[in-house]
Amino acid sequence: MVVTYEQALSIVQDKIGSANRVPEAETIPLDQALCRVLAEDVTADRDLPRFHRAIRDGYALRTADLSVLPAVLRCVGEVPAGRSFEGEVRPGQCVSIMTGAPLPEGADAVVMVEHTASRGSDIEIQRSVQPWENIVLRGSEAAEGARILARGRRLQAAEIGLLASVGKAAVAVYRQPSVAILPTGDEVVPVEQQPQWFQIRNSNAAALAAQVKSAGGMPLPLGIAPDRKDLLKEMIEPGLHSDLLLLSGGVSMGKLDLVEEVLAELGAEFFFQGTAIRPGKPLVFGRVRDSFFFGLPGNPVSTFVTFELFARPALALLSGAAFEPPVFLRARLAKPFRQRTGLTMFLPARVRMQDHDPVVQPVGWQGSGDLVGVAAANCFLVIHPDQTDLVAGNWVDIMPKGQ
Ligand code: AMP
Ligand code: MG
Repeated sequence: MVVTYEQALSIVQDKIGSANRVPEAETIPLDQALCRVLAEDVTADRDLPRFHRAIRDGYALRTADLSVLPAVLRCVGEVPAGRSFEGEVRPGQCVSIMTGAPLPEGADAVVMVEHTASRGSDIEIQRSVQPWENIVLRGSEAAEGARILARGRRLQAAEIGLLASVGKAAVAVYRQPSVAILPTGDEVVPVEQQPQWFQIRNSNAAALAAQVKSAGGMPLPLGIAPDRKDLLKEMIEPGLHSDLLLLSGGVSMGKLDLVEEVLAELGAEFFFQGTAIRPGKPLVFGRVRDSFFFGLPGNPVSTFVTFELFARPALALLSGAAFEPPVFLRARLAKPFRQRTGLTMFLPARVRMQDHDPVVQPVGWQGSGDLVGVAAANCFLVIHPDQTDLVAGNWVDIMPKGQ
């Protein structure tokens, strides 16, 4: 069954979502948590910020004292970040304050130092401020006890910073899904080996392992399977203990494309066999026993793109996060595009800013084997099946290249 891009995506979501695999949790140090998925709700252990915090260097004062400008106030002290001012700011007074310091009692705003002049301990205030200007109020980012991150959230740099700010030196995350990687093909040799002129280095396993890691999975390389049914079957077996099995190559129509046949013999259930996309048309998705699998086409660009389109969102679900389908952004087309394929196309491209608009242009590439082209790209230009005649300047979808 050949399905559209959208159908394929929703089949992946349905099949993996309904398997309802919630991974086990483990507690790890925060500095190892990048790309992992939170297995606990995290609350603020205290108000964020804990005090009314100055966000400018200047003078803390009472706005009621600024009805006539310039106002002259008596400076009665200084409060740098990391200290607190013990007294109170009374009418007619101010306190020199620095960014990050707590607002002294009595004060209700900070005037930036640029808008003042100092005459000894008398400070001339030249501009007015609104009450609470240049202050972040106590608890305004989050109140003590409020949930700041929910279970299922993938931890990127901002989340890790936020966890640090509430004292989570160790954090409960879901166990990483294991992802077996099995490239196939008699022509494919290990990267360490000098290939004969008719052989190809195994670039797919290297790229896939990197993609799996950035998606929060644990890559498990299974070697390289030759185009022989018995050996292929033997090498798939250990992959069936993983949460996900990624095969590359051997899913096209060639005489030696044996992957589907072998998977069928192992009892596979196929959810789709082929998608109306380019590159990546022969992609298959299914399950053998407890493992989901993708049979990714072997061309390196097809392998890369089909991972981004389907395996990355699948891995999100398998790692306890929400389904994360690719997000398309928009850019203007640099040159006309005319092609009628009936497929959803993902063309390696570069997007850059031009006159305040993002403008996208496909990179020169030699088809789906061309990793040089993908490496030069920073996005994929997405052409939908009904877009057959696009002119320069048209707004089109682009998909960021990912990690
Ligand atoms: P296939 O899908 O098996 O027909 O392979 C399509 C193309 O991808 C062929 O030109 C293969 O040589 C190439 N290819 C297959 N597997 C790999 C791999 N692991 N690394 C790099 N190229 C590959
Ligand atoms: Mg092959």
